[in-house]
Amino acid sequence: MTDRRKFLKNSALFAAFSSLGISVFAGEGGKKKKKGKTNPNSVAGKPLVISTWKHGLAANEGAWKVIDAGGRALDAVEQGVMVTESDKTNTSVGLGGFPDREGIVTLDASIMDERGMAGSVAFVQGIEHPISLARRVMDKTPHALLVGAGAELFAKQEGFVKQKNTLTDTTRKAWQEWMKEKNYKPVINIENHDTIGLLAIDKRGNVSGACTTSGLSWKMHGRVGDSPIIGAGLFVDNEFGAATCTGLGESVLRTLASFLAVECMRRGATPQEACEEAIARIVKKHANFKDFQVGILAITPAGEHGGYAIHKGFNYALHQGGNNRMIDSDYYNKEGK
Ligand code: ASP
Repeated sequence: MTDRRKFLKNSALFAAFSSLGISVFAGEGGKKKKKGKTNPNSVAGKPLVISTWKHGLAANEGAWKVIDAGGRALDAVEQGVMVTESDKTNTSVGLGGFPDREGIVTLDASIMDERGMAGSVAFVQGIEHPISLARRVMDKTPHALLVGAGAELFAKQEGFVKQKNTLTDTTRKAWQEWMKEKNYKPVINIENHDTIGLLAIDKRGNVSGACTTSGLSWKMHGRVGDSPIIGAGLFVDNEFGAATCTGLGESVLRTLASFLAVECMRRGATPQEACEEAIARIVKKHANFKDFQVGILAITPAGEHGGYAIHKGFNYALHQGGNNRMIDSDYYNKEGK
């Protein structure tokens, strides 16, 4: 049988099982997984805002204002991460971020709404709010992703003010220090904040997500990570939930971890199981997983959540039931080696 015929046959079988309501969710390695593991901090309830790392607390407040006023989750996720993008003391998101090897800050961002529409920008310079540019790509163009000079031209046409590409005192000093050795190795949990990925459910029950970053510090000029790639750093499906990732983007790109987590939920996994499945896939595909960190968050439209990481140290901010708090994520590498 040709590969194409095998594929069609398997697809037909899958569709038949699915239509009978038979779960085809299987764990890593193909073993049938027991369903039902939940996160001890997860309670169903909406509206909700959840985001990566400690900078998520302030971002959640920004998003919550929109949600509380009856606004749309899409506006909430944009407004939320804009708080982080504008914080010049934040060295991993926005123009205050650490630069690449050439001393240039380049930014990546993506946004996705309840209709499954998405917009993203990558490798942009001098834009204070790449998330808003990503939204304009979604709202005003027939495209889903614009990069580099083209994205900056579109920003100009849309009236975005180009900021000077100057490093802050902190990032200039750090870059000069790095230039002495030029030693490149991703550091786990650097400063306890990296990309911000933020997911929200509004009062109508609609789900949206946003993800924005200055990417890995000292990356090669032109390098783009997972954050602006739909399915990698962010994925939203209004029917089954949403997921977002932070950490070493290359590993997330290779596994499309956010898409994978949402697909796990589609097949019956809880958000916690979905996060653990995505991290298991990354670990399985990367013999060097001990050298880097990835953290993932997932939510269902009912407001349950999951969070998981490769290593200790990942945390996230949860705004639910009028309370905005930090939660330490569970993780895979319990031996801590
Ligand atoms: N995921 C981001 C990237 O690879 C970086 C991060 O989250 O720290 O660009």
